[in-house]
Amino acid sequence: MKKITNLLIGTNNKGKLKEIRALLPKYIKIYSTFNFNLKSPKENGKTFEDNSIIKSKYFSKKTNLPCLADDSGLEIDILGKAPGIYSARWGGRNSDFKKAIKRVYRELDRKDKNWKNKKIKARFICVLSICYLSKKIISVKGKVDGIISTKPKGKKGFGYDPIFIPKGKKFTFGQLSPSVKYKLDHRFEAFKKIKRFL
Ligand code: IMP
Repeated sequence: MKKITNLLIGTNNKGKLKEIRALLPKYIKIYSTFNFNLKSPKENGKTFEDNSIIKSKYFSKKTNLPCLADDSGLEIDILGKAPGIYSARWGGRNSDFKKAIKRVYRELDRKDKNWKNKKIKARFICVLSICYLSKKIISVKGKVDGIISTKPKGKKGFGYDPIFIPKGKKFTFGQLSPSVKYKLDHRFEAFKKIKRFL
């Protein structure tokens, strides 16, 4: 594979862009979707991998640059791995994560009245893909296992952070400062894997 020297980061999320920029080797010239004023495509795949590839190919074709895109979310085992690829959509049109968390608790109550006395296994998943035009170059997956907290704790993160306790720890992702959390998380793990190819 030829060395990648120019790379578009296929996300319209400024937080993700910043995190990803910090993790990439300095010799790569980074472009963002904001430089091109591009909207995100419809994510109609069935898996995290499908959706990251859809985004990556879409942005690559629009800009003629190789593109790195991610797709991520939370899987809860007893909910049949929901919200999964629908993690963002559970927050509704305004990405209201309080609403998404309420829905998680509602679904858990519905599934098992006694869930608070059990360990509810969950994991965050992140798939990163690089495509150039309509060709997939690489796709990798990172994950972090954990359990669901019986109530939301911490105000530091975003999304489902306040209800996710990483395996072996006593605190939620929402209680950790971003600089500590990012080294434990699914995105960082996926990055370590993709870096070998850059
Ligand atoms: P995406 O932007 O389509 O990948 O949507 C990912 C969604 O999954 C986010 O909007 C969050 O709801 C959730 N998510 C992904 N990563 C994290 C994380 O590190 N913490 C909390 N929620 C996350």
